[in-house]
Amino acid sequence: MSRLNLTREKIYKTVARQLHGQVPCWVCGQHVPHAEATLEHIQPRSEGGSSHLENLAISHGRCNQQRQVRPA
Ligand SMILES: [Zn+2]
Repeated sequence: MSRLNLTREKIYKTVARQLHGQVPCWVCGQHVPHAEATLEHIQPRSEGGSSHLENLAISHGRCNQQRQVRPA
């Protein structure tokens, strides 16, 4: 498991705990099932966004793909 996947797990679990099992998609706002969770850079790395927790959010895989064409 990659470091980003570990970070994703950590963020997912943290948000789920804070929101009583709900993990809203950063793109569409709907709940993200664990199997569909991907990690999103709020500010793209190509625009200087960091990989720190405050620049990362959970989104659906399909929402993530719609937003950025390049694979992570
Ligand atoms: Zn979504």
